[in-house]
Amino acid sequence: MSRPHDVACVVHLHSTYSDGTATVAEIAGSAARTGVEVVLLTDHDTLAARRAGEEGWYGDVLVVVGQEVTPSGGHLLAFGLDEEVIHAGLDERAIARRVAAAGGLGFAAHAFSAGSSISLRVARAHGWPALDEPSLTGMELWSLETDGLERCASLREAARMLWDPARALRMGPREGALATWDRLSATRRLPAIGGLDAHQKPGVRVRGRMRGPLAGDRVFGLLQTRVLLDAPLPRDAATAATAVHEALAAGRAYIAAEGLAPAGGVAFWAEPQDPEGSAVPMGGEAPAGAYTLRARLPRAAELTLVADGAPVRTVHADALDHAVSEAGVFRLEARLDGYAWILTNPVHLR
Ligand SMILES: [Zn+2]
Ligand SMILES: [Zn+2]
Repeated sequence: MSRPHDVACVVHLHSTYSDGTATVAEIAGSAARTGVEVVLLTDHDTLAARRAGEEGWYGDVLVVVGQEVTPSGGHLLAFGLDEEVIHAGLDERAIARRVAAAGGLGFAAHAFSAGSSISLRVARAHGWPALDEPSLTGMELWSLETDGLERCASLREAARMLWDPARALRMGPREGALATWDRLSATRRLPAIGGLDAHQKPGVRVRGRMRGPLAGDRVFGLLQTRVLLDAPLPRDAATAATAVHEALAAGRAYIAAEGLAPAGGVAFWAEPQDPEGSAVPMGGEAPAGAYTLRARLPRAAELTLVADGAPVRTVHADALDHAVSEAGVFRLEARLDGYAWILTNPVHLR
């Protein structure tokens, strides 16, 4: 397979257009300084950043404006909308259907939120209750700040996380998240993304930059969703946004704990043993047959091939090749020192 273009995205961010502390331009500045190429902004119930002309390129950083649909129940990260989705009176399933009907993509936000471990008065549970909803595009499997802060059992632990946000990264996705995702993936493609839910609060502006424990400069380099594109991002912002959206919807993307080690260049695909056949890319689906699953990583790690939710092979290497002839949903996990580093979307052989 020819090498795709691997684009580092940060997903699920709030700006001053809702309850975030940083402006869109400040967010783009943090992205540039942390090696991020695409920012998927998701302010609560507003696309105001776009109407203000703030969607587009900031140097080499592309800002794409989505909406976090924010009812009192589960939230939905919606991308590719022309106008805001109004959720008044709708339950989660109806919201997901409305986003899909508007031509948008809907990813269940902080899907496994269970509320603060300190007290549900600090933060109530606001996971997504309907992950089997057919109109859902996918889900935020790992929501760095929400999942991290919710699992701090004391204010002292929360303070330690603010001091060192990489602690949230080392916690990994919430317990049960991967197993639930595997179970859902058995019947349909449900691409996963890794988000930040970044608000940069508390933060203060010092000489034009946000400073604070969870400021963009300290967080954007931790957890990214990296999308795989057939061509470099085009300079036309609308075309570029569409390419990113299509890759996310197709699962041509992987979750990268970039703060553990640089992750760019991961490949995972199924190569047909018949030389006439075509390869199945990450996120893709094809009839079962004789394939070799191939994984390539930028450095050695503990690689585990997961088939239908169960580990089938683990190696310590920077590559893995595994022949299969049966149907299955196959994904790759890479760990460094036991910490989740790379989580790819699956290849579905049905
Ligand atoms: Zn939310
Ligand atoms: Zn949010």
